[in-house]
Amino acid sequence: MKLRGNKPGFDGCRSRANLMLFVCLTASVVSVVPPEASGHTMATPINCSHATGIQVLGSGGPQVNPARASAGYLIWIDGKARALVDAGGGVFLRFGQAGARIEDLEVVALTHLHVDHSTDVPALLKAGYFSERRRALPLLGPTGGGAFPGLKDWLDALLVKPDGAYHYLAGYLDGSDGLFGLDVREIDASGRQPQTVFESPELVVQAVGVAHGSVPALGLLASVKGHRVAFSGDQNGHNPAFARMIGGAELLIMDYAIPEDAGRIAAALHARPSEIAQLAAAADVDRLVLSHLMPRSERVLAASLAIIRKTYTGPLTVADDMLCLPLAGSSEQTTETMDRLKR
Ligand SMILES: [Zn+2]
Repeated sequence: MKLRGNKPGFDGCRSRANLMLFVCLTASVVSVVPPEASGHTMATPINCSHATGIQVLGSGGPQVNPARASAGYLIWIDGKARALVDAGGGVFLRFGQAGARIEDLEVVALTHLHVDHSTDVPALLKAGYFSERRRALPLLGPTGGGAFPGLKDWLDALLVKPDGAYHYLAGYLDGSDGLFGLDVREIDASGRQPQTVFESPELVVQAVGVAHGSVPALGLLASVKGHRVAFSGDQNGHNPAFARMIGGAELLIMDYAIPEDAGRIAAALHARPSEIAQLAAAADVDRLVLSHLMPRSERVLAASLAIIRKTYTGPLTVADDMLCLPLAGSSEQTTETMDRLKR
């Protein structure tokens, strides 16, 4: 297997030099070793390799795209993938390519239950059956509303006996059948004030309801060993409480799904480029990362960047799958880790 022209070893940073001001320190998606005598080519996964950083697993949206999986992000802490934010289609594969392990996860957080943010959850759960994990896995997601179930009802529809589509995995609901249990925590998506929804010694996650049309949705702020990273999820950027929550964040990973001239319905779901810029500027983030690209937004990327630049002038990165974003202070260790992995 060879992915997108990666050469053996470290050189797979997918940065777009013409679009990014950021020095990408990522490792390659895979290193490809010479074909075996059998004719197979083996791909060796390499993890994000930063002591502490964020990895984009999926930078796309709900449309089929040869280069972009649907939404998903890993939070790496000290070389281990500790949190997964969203799990859209393709994230299952990217999770493996990243070298992440289900055993290492402390939490999985879903910003909302659109297919392109959630559909690979059952696949990852099934993979967990083959892992060494025994302790419960916290799974966070929104309450229901409108056409959408809450996280608990969504999981029941998948797992509960006898009607769940995958009820052979019902043990995940209570930790029976030799499966690790899920610690399911529904977060009030109608709440407009941030609340702390997960806490461990090195990772704290806050959430607040955000406007994504009529879809119950959450915006998240992760404090990773003190580094603050914001995940917009999908939103139109209209809840000022989100901007306040993420004020001064090191990174804002923001969905960029529509062009400036998007119609009313699309603009109720997503932020226009000018609105992305206003949010990033109002929140005074250190770096804006555009993700969740769709053909309609990627087609006009240059024009959208020009619009964003009128209001937001700070560092800006356009995400690609597997992009690694080291958090401040982790670069030295990152280099060491990458050197070690290259050997
Ligand atoms: Zn969505």
